[in-house]
Amino acid sequence: MTSETVTTVPTADQIRRAPKVLLHDHLDGGLRPATVAELARATGYDGLPETDPEALGAWFREAADSGSLERYLETFAHTCAVMQTREALVRVAAECAEDLAADGVVYAEVRYAPEQHLERGLTLEEVVEAVNEGFREGERRAREAGHRIRVGVLLTAMRHAARSLEIAELANRYRDAGVVGFDIAGAEAGHPPTRHLDAFEYLKRENNHFTIHAGEAFGLPSIWQALQWCGADRLGHGVRIIDDIQVAEDGSVKLGRLAAYVRDRRVPLEMCPTSNLQTGAAPSYAEHPIGLLRRLRFRVTVNTDNRLMSGTGMSREFEHLVETFGYTLDDMQWFTVNAMKSAFIPFDERLAMINDVIKPGYAELKSEWLFREAAAAGR
Ligand SMILES: [Zn+2]
Repeated sequence: MTSETVTTVPTADQIRRAPKVLLHDHLDGGLRPATVAELARATGYDGLPETDPEALGAWFREAADSGSLERYLETFAHTCAVMQTREALVRVAAECAEDLAADGVVYAEVRYAPEQHLERGLTLEEVVEAVNEGFREGERRAREAGHRIRVGVLLTAMRHAARSLEIAELANRYRDAGVVGFDIAGAEAGHPPTRHLDAFEYLKRENNHFTIHAGEAFGLPSIWQALQWCGADRLGHGVRIIDDIQVAEDGSVKLGRLAAYVRDRRVPLEMCPTSNLQTGAAPSYAEHPIGLLRRLRFRVTVNTDNRLMSGTGMSREFEHLVETFGYTLDDMQWFTVNAMKSAFIPFDERLAMINDVIKPGYAELKSEWLFREAAAAGR
C-alpha cells in the first residue's frame, strides 16, 4: 500500500466525522420513525400502516422502494399528517438538525412546503415560525452534544398547485429570519416549471435565490426550462443532463449545448444517489451519472433527499460513493466545497465555512494516517 492510499481512502468512521454540507433534504422526508409513531398517537392520527417504530421505518423504505408512485406518495401523506401542529413542527425540525449534526453535517439547507401543514388551522406564517424555532433548538442541542451545525430553510411550492407566488413572497418576507431560498417540487411530467414564472420573476426582482426540482424523472426539456425560462440558481437532481453527453468507445466525451452551459456556468447539481435508485432515475450506484459528472468536473453536490424513505444520511450516501467509485477524502472535500460554494447564504459566510470549518476538518482527517502506527503500538 502506498502512503497516498493510506492518507486518503476514508473509513466509515472518517466519513461520519468529515464535515459535510447538505443542500437537498426534505423536512417531511427525514423524520425519525419513532417520532412519526409518537406524533400520530399524540395528535390522534390513526392512518399509519404500522405503529412499532422499527416496523414503521421498514415500511417507509419498502414503500419508497416498491417502484409504485402511489405508494411512494403515500409515505409523505403519513409524515405530513403528523406535522400539522406547532409542537410537532418544532420537534421534527429540532430532531432534523440534531440528526444531521450527529452525522457530521456542518451546514444544511432543509426544504418543506408550508402549504402542506395547514390542515389543523395553522397559518403559513405560523408554520414557518414553528419550523425556524425547531431548527434553532436543534442547533442548540447539537452544540451541547459537541456538534456544530447551521441550518437554513428553503420554502417549497408544489408544482401541481397554484400557490407558488404566495410561497415565494413568504420566502422573501422571512429572508433574514431563517429562510434562505425557494424551491419548486412535485411530479415533473405535466407540470412544467414555466407555470410558475410569476413566482420566479418576483424572486429575481427581489434579488432572492431559488432552486427547481428538474431532470429527475423528466428529461432535458425540464432542465432547460428551469434554467433558461425560470432562471434557477441550482437544479434539484438534474441527473438527466447525462442525456446531453455522449461518451464514445474510446472514452472521449462530447457535451451538447445544454450540458456545456450547465458546466460552463457552474450550475450546481443537487444529486441524491439513493433516492434516484428508488425512483428509477438511475439503475445502480455504479451507473449513476454522478460518476461521469464528477469526472467531467460539473458542479456536483451529494445529497440525501428523503432520509426516512431512503434509509439514508449524508455519511451513508458518501459510503456508497466511496465503495462504488473509490473516492478519497480529497473527492469528499471537493463535493463538500462544491456544495458550500453553492449554498444560498452570503458569500463571506460561505467562504468562512470553507476556509475555517471544511478545509481544516479534511486536513485533520488526512493527517490521521501519520499517527496510525503510533496508535497501534500504544494499544
Ligand atoms: Zn427532492
